Amino acid sequence: MHTQPTASHFINGAYVEDTAGTPIDVIYPATGEVIGRVHSATPAIIDHALNAARAAQAAWAAMTGTERGRILRRAADIMRARNHDLSVLETFDTGKPYQETSVADATSGADALEYFGGMAATLTGEHIQLGDDWVYTRREPLGVCVGIGAWNYPTQIASWKGAPALACGNTMVFKPSETTPLCALKVAEILHEAGAPAGVYNVVQGLGDVGAALVSDSRVDKVSLTGSVPTGRKVYAAAAAEMKHVTMELGGKSPLIIFDDADVENAVSGAIMANFYSSGQVCSNGTRVFVQTGIKEAFLARLTERLGKAVIGDPQDPETSFGPMVSEGQMKIVQGYIAKGQDEGARLVTGGARLDRDGFYLEPTVFADVTDGMTIAREEIFGPVMAVLDFEDEAEVLARANDTEFGLAAGVFTRDLARAHRVVAGFEAGTCFINSYNDAPVEAPFGGVKASGVGRENSKAAIEHYSQVKSVYVRMGDVEAPF
Ligand code: NDP
Repeated sequence: MHTQPTASHFINGAYVEDTAGTPIDVIYPATGEVIGRVHSATPAIIDHALNAARAAQAAWAAMTGTERGRILRRAADIMRARNHDLSVLETFDTGKPYQETSVADATSGADALEYFGGMAATLTGEHIQLGDDWVYTRREPLGVCVGIGAWNYPTQIASWKGAPALACGNTMVFKPSETTPLCALKVAEILHEAGAPAGVYNVVQGLGDVGAALVSDSRVDKVSLTGSVPTGRKVYAAAAAEMKHVTMELGGKSPLIIFDDADVENAVSGAIMANFYSSGQVCSNGTRVFVQTGIKEAFLARLTERLGKAVIGDPQDPETSFGPMVSEGQMKIVQGYIAKGQDEGARLVTGGARLDRDGFYLEPTVFADVTDGMTIAREEIFGPVMAVLDFEDEAEVLARANDTEFGLAAGVFTRDLARAHRVVAGFEAGTCFINSYNDAPVEAPFGGVKASGVGRENSKAAIEHYSQVKSVYVRMGDVEAPF
């Protein structure tokens, strides 16, 4: 693995090590082998990163948007040129098949760098005429942003947070999940190589305690978390104590509704994309698949047939289309949910077992005859487990689809376009799909409502969450005062 980062942290333009920090083993999910080791950030490392980010921020913000954007776009080009090596590393870090990582990770990170790089020069305030007086606004950065990532998309998350933050003139300290510490370091390395001054984008490793230390530090102005709802509640509360800005990209239990008139083949493809991509470890997954009774058996038959074609194996083999879970711990959590599904009376249609090989492999699993109250229909599983629920009519299914604390995503398959738009308008979810599932182009806002999050990533909407507006009143005449 010649692409491995050379030390645990990347701070102030250089790799930094401090072996006094708790060791974190990097485990390859496909074999269970230890393939690397990093160290959790000590208080000195955290201090170094925050000071570097603070010191670099004013000069970075003082550059023109065109200059900042050029660096981000150069980073995008480097990332694309190294897509193969970065994808191999992402596969070692997460276990996701190379077939996926080569098209969905560094490429998606590069899209974000290119998109926000292009936008940096267009960020402006506005002019508001008030008779002879006028107001102008300045769009200003927030300052130092902390990014905290989950383990499912380490390159993408580091880039989706870094690109808009840097485009707006902020600097960043990013903490990856301790399960996947490697990829964010490459993002930092590439940004530095592209010309980002030292301190503009820093990476520190660590467990939740390092995240917590960053969030509560007074040098930090904004926190963007991708993680679970319980962690989101803690991080949001800690940020609120100091009135920091937040973006919360949290979990979900999203509905996917398939009406009788849907094209079965496309609906099955959508359901596969909504449940089995990245072995089901995707926050926006449509894991409650409501299928209208008229199409149910045809849907289940075709789904089972198609899942039989999944190529499960060595994720570095480009032919492999389904890889292991990210960790033994996550695999056990998912096995627990599969057992609960069986105990609570859901019908196991296919899968359900761990594969008899090294690594943390579970079969793609489908339960049918799932009812709304079952645990597997209520809690986020974050694994390759689809719950199929029956429904009869539109109003009923929409109410059931919305009956959850989450609101990240939702999808509908139907040939009736009026119905599709009506259903989508009724969804309590931030990111919706019609006759598709899990597309995440950088041009479109991404994020959740209800417990699934606050704020939006990607698109022009992200700019609102990485900048603030200063309003300046300019009086052209005399000032009137009451006395
Ligand atoms: P966690 O919520 O466990 O962790 C997320 C990150 O927060 C990790 O880096 C973690 O560190 C860190 N962290 C944990 N506790 C604290 C704390 N008190 N203060 C600051 N940081 C803390 O999520 P997972 O990594 O297990 O990821 C899976 C979850 O992420 C799922 O629920 C999924 O839905 C959600 N997710 C949401 C996405 C979205 O965009 N909406 C996208 C992808 C995932 P460490 O792990 O090192 O302890």
